[in-house]
Amino acid sequence: MNAAEFTILLVEDEIEIRRFVRQALEQDGCLVRETGTLNQGLQDATTHNPDLIILDLGLPDGDGLEFVERLRSWSNIPLLVLSARSAEQSKIAVLDAGADDYLTKPFSVGELLARVRASLRRSRSGNKLASPIVRFGNVEVDLSRHSVSKDQQPVKLTAIEFKLLSVLLANAGRVMTHRHLLREVWGPSHSDSTHYLRIYVAHLRQKLEADVTQPAHFQTEIGIGYRFQY
Ligand code: CA
Repeated sequence: MNAAEFTILLVEDEIEIRRFVRQALEQDGCLVRETGTLNQGLQDATTHNPDLIILDLGLPDGDGLEFVERLRSWSNIPLLVLSARSAEQSKIAVLDAGADDYLTKPFSVGELLARVRASLRRSRSGNKLASPIVRFGNVEVDLSRHSVSKDQQPVKLTAIEFKLLSVLLANAGRVMTHRHLLREVWGPSHSDSTHYLRIYVAHLRQKLEADVTQPAHFQTEIGIGYRFQY
């Protein structure tokens, strides 16, 4: 994908990281606008309508969570969060509030660009799958017929397993928190039943992964949730 047509807003107060991220994105052909404060970031998001926002969670004039909540009250602009490893809880909170993905500092240029491209691709497709037939590994899923096959053999999924699979596929590449997945699949009253998820993700892996001990598609984000990867 050519990133040249994309404008990215970078909200980060650390000069070193700002320079690193800006250089990587510009080399990839993106137009980068940057600011170091939460309030200026929100203002720039309104004025410049960027294709993607990269947001540091620790800003001098406020918390990243506030930024995400305020932005999401009027906009679906894809949002990639940068956070320190120690900020696990705030990471979960911003993902639940509507951030799309996160990167833990320190991260590499390759990681950054891969996440940026994935977020831009998702937003361009409007989070909708282009076709009801989805393929990964040796698996084929027909979302309209609710049928699944692996190595051309039909695989039987329960209704819950299929629902979970559909939600993960619709959000491919995106980190889905435990709470978000539980809400989507089981409903709001089950948002703390993390053990359900563990069980059902294990079922999907057993039925659909080539190697259950090293899942290639149903990936665990430790302490946070799951991510489906093609
Ligand atoms: Ca910071």
